[in-house]
Amino acid sequence: MSLKRKNIESSLIGMNLDDFISIVTDFDEQKYRAEQLFNWIYKRNIQSFAEMENLPKQLKVNIADNYLFNPLKILKVTGAKSAKTRKYLLECQDGEKIEAVLMKEQKRITICLSSQIGCALGCEFCATGTMGIIRNLTVGEIVAQYLLLLKESEKPITNVVFMGMGEPFLNYDNVIKSADLLNNPDGINLGARHITISTAGIVPQIHKFAEEKQRYKLAISLNGSTQEQRLKTMPIAKKYPIDKLIESVKYYNNETRNLVTFEYVLLSDINDSELDVKRLTDLISDLPCKLNVIPYNEIGGKFVRPSDDKIKEFLGNLLNVPFTVTTRWSKGADINAGCGQLVVT
Ligand code: SF4
Repeated sequence: MSLKRKNIESSLIGMNLDDFISIVTDFDEQKYRAEQLFNWIYKRNIQSFAEMENLPKQLKVNIADNYLFNPLKILKVTGAKSAKTRKYLLECQDGEKIEAVLMKEQKRITICLSSQIGCALGCEFCATGTMGIIRNLTVGEIVAQYLLLLKESEKPITNVVFMGMGEPFLNYDNVIKSADLLNNPDGINLGARHITISTAGIVPQIHKFAEEKQRYKLAISLNGSTQEQRLKTMPIAKKYPIDKLIESVKYYNNETRNLVTFEYVLLSDINDSELDVKRLTDLISDLPCKLNVIPYNEIGGKFVRPSDDKIKEFLGNLLNVPFTVTTRWSKGADINAGCGQLVVT
């Protein structure tokens, strides 16, 4: 008989079909019961055993008695139901807190997921970086963010981005397992190309991601056109310099044939000059890539968002570059849910 395992590592949300098979067989039930359980949790997004009508009562009692169902609960929602962006403060079983964001833009409904509590990388422009790292999130805590926010959304979720709190590639295994659960056609069934994993540039994990030929989209926070400039805002650039980062992107392109998206947080008088556009063009023009320019969301620190005229000038200088340029007029900045603004105190 199964042991009592009511801890965050063993929540039902976050387990895959094999885990469910081992649970139901532990309780002397047939394997197809595991498929039913999987269906209830990931396809039907049921949050309680009472609603799982086709499972035997005793099995439900046994599982409920031994396993945690959902490792998260919603503590606070910021932003009206009708607002384009809503931010969710969620509490883990150990009392730690994380944030996830729901963003609506016409038909596109995106959830921004956190992968860690806090972050060790300390990017200078990022509120999460001020927290330091507390711990990695479990697969259950990552997938539960999705399932809770899906319940809150009036429309189906079309996209997931791992751009919330934490560096996803420093919690690599749990992030990939979570993406696999989101992508599983028998469950949530979100297309791989609708799931984006964003890294500040953890070079060995970019190689690993490439070698594994992961189909999820890859985004890289570049935020500077030179090594010196990157070092000013991203301490991780010391360990993984810009030339090694670009080499790893080339390797990724060669291995997967997928393009990457470079994220570029635009900071006044730091990386927003005409010279930056030229250096940036030289740096990434040879790569199959997109550039996403994100005018900075101020968090009360030393950096300033460029003026609207300066942002327009920067974008104007990018008009003839050989890669696609998009601008993220970050949603949710008014409720501190924009890029780099997630923090829990
Ligand atoms: S930007 Fe991302 S990697 Fe950098 S400190 Fe913030 S959460 Fe961490």
